[in-house]
Order: sequence, then C-alpha cells, then structure tokens
Amino acid sequence: MTTVTKAEGAPAPTGPDGFLSVRDLQVTFSTEDGPVKAVDGLSFDLHRGRTLGIVGESGSGKSVTNLTILGLHDPLFTTIDGEIVLDGKELITATEKEMEKLRGNRVAMIFQDPLTALSPFYSIGRQIAEPYMKHTGASKKAAWERAVDMLAKVGIPNPKERARDYPHQFSGGMRQRAMIAMALVCDPELLIADEPTTALDVTVQAQIMDLLKDLQQEFGTAIIFITHDLGVIADIADDVLVMYGGRCVERGTKKEVLRAPQHPYTLGLLGSMPSLDGPVDVPLSPIPGSPPSLLNPPSGCRFHPRCTFADKVAGNRCSGERPLLEVVDGRGAACHLTPEQKRELFSDYAAARTH
Ligand code: SF4
Repeated sequence: MTTVTKAEGAPAPTGPDGFLSVRDLQVTFSTEDGPVKAVDGLSFDLHRGRTLGIVGESGSGKSVTNLTILGLHDPLFTTIDGEIVLDGKELITATEKEMEKLRGNRVAMIFQDPLTALSPFYSIGRQIAEPYMKHTGASKKAAWERAVDMLAKVGIPNPKERARDYPHQFSGGMRQRAMIAMALVCDPELLIADEPTTALDVTVQAQIMDLLKDLQQEFGTAIIFITHDLGVIADIADDVLVMYGGRCVERGTKKEVLRAPQHPYTLGLLGSMPSLDGPVDVPLSPIPGSPPSLLNPPSGCRFHPRCTFADKVAGNRCSGERPLLEVVDGRGAACHLTPEQKRELFSDYAAARTH
C-alpha cells in the first residue's frame, strides 16, 4: 500500500499507522531569550519488532523528541503540539500518573551514561528487581530471581553473586549491560536507546548492539536508537530518520538512506565517516560550518548556510522557502533539488564511495 505523509504546509496528517505513531510533533521551549522550537513538524511510524535509527548532530531535536515521547519534558517551560499515539493511546494528553505507569513498564529508556540511571546506594540486583515488583506485583523473591535472570541474559558472568554488587563494582560495559537489564526487566514494547554505546570501546559497543538485537528477537520490542554515528545506524537500524535543526530532512530504510541518500545533509554525514564498504583511502570531508541556532534559525531550508548545492536551486528558493518533506512508502527527503539534479550531483560521491 502506498502511504503519503507530509510535514509543514501539508493537509491534516494521516492517522496512526504503526505501534508508535508521531504526527506533526512540535516542541517549543520558553527561554529567557525567547521561544526555541526544538522539534518542528516531525512525523513517523514505528512497528513492533523494528528498529528506527534517528541520526543528527547535537541540537537536531533527536533527544528532545524521545524525551517528549516518554513525557520527561518540563511542562512549565515546554509547549507540545501534534500527536504521539502508542498502541492507540494518545500520550501528549496523558496524565503524569498514566505516563509514570507507562515508563518502565511498556516503554523504557537506556541512556548514554549508566551512572545517571543507576543509584550508587543500592545493589544492582535490587535496582533491577524494584521496577519489576512495582509494575508486576511480583514478590521480593520472584523479583530478585528475575533480576538474576536478566543479568544472565545480558551476559553478566556469575549473575547470582554479581547481583549483590553495587554499580561502582561493575566496569563501564557491565554497568551499561545492567542498565539494559533494568530497562528490559518488564518486557517493554518500546525501548528508546539514546547514544547507549557512545562512551564504550568498540568491542563492548559491538557486544551491546548484538545483545539488543537478540533481545529484540526474543521480546519483539520496537526500538528507537538515537545516535550521531551512521556506522552504528548501519549495524542496528531497519529504518532511518535524519534530523537537522529540529526537522526531519530524510527518511527511508537503512539501505535506501545509506546507499542512495536524497538529501545533501545525509550525503555530508556519510562523507564525514569512513566508507562502509568502499575503498579505505577515500578522504573524509566534514560538513563545513556548525549546526543552526534554534533561537534564530536560518530561513527557508535550515541547512542552506552549509549546503554546497544551494546555488544549484534557482531563485534563492533554498533561503526563502522551506522544502516540504513528502514521504511515499516511508521514503522521502526535504530538498528543493530535482531528482535529476540529485542523480547528477550525487553520482560522483556514490561512485567514489561504493567501488
Ligand atoms: Fe541544500 Fe537547498 Fe536542498 Fe536545502 S533545499 S538541502 S539548501 S539544495
């Protein structure tokens, strides 16, 4: 079935299509210097058992989106518009009590730094067992056994003994595993992982990714994986959403986005990382300039001050007119370049990096 959704300037968004459905999400912070629109018209769907990779630089809106899904924004300083529907339940209008019930039970989050999620005062086992008791009503003994099981599942050796340890007795990689055990103890249907492997060395990073894939197979969990690293996306994601300046600029399957990018920003991200399977001697070319200020964002296409192709679009459209994101069957990019221009302009890049 062909589904078409549009971002800003489009007719009313389509109805929920996935297990998680986000429609025209707008998140605005009130700051001393004025309103900051951190997320501006974001729409996407996520199905059970699939992993959506959200990629972008700092300040692109990827983490704000996910904190908003979890209801972890500050209600006094944040205005939210749009729809977030999880399995038929609208989350933007949910009460704090309803969100609290949802978090840790149906929805869980893994953070970059396990020390922000783990308390230094309680044993690892207790910290995994407590949310399980709270959400399932299990006895203390059953919850402890469950915690030991979860530690075994995430690959902690001697889980019975290690469950009694405190976070400082675990290595960085083991703490990350413990946090994953804590996040998954109630079999959440949606897991949000925010740069969970950034601070780890490559070997542990690869182990954690394999672990997430195994656990997803076992539990059918839908995963949102937030990262700035396209290499990580290549490893774990099924679908990819590229964010820039609070907006989605490109989306598609992993293969579509990484093999045939349709947006100059995605192309720039790919150019600034080593080729996935091409020649090793291709020089890296970082994107010039810095991410936009959301307090005073560039007009038109927010990427235009950094885009090497902006002068290929006639009539100053790039600085004057916001490109719409038109999505057909999950694939789309928000750019004024025509398909013919993209084919021509992007082909040198593709040739150099694929073979
Ligand atoms: Fe570049 Fe213009 Fe496309 Fe924006 S709309 S990405 S500035 S070519």
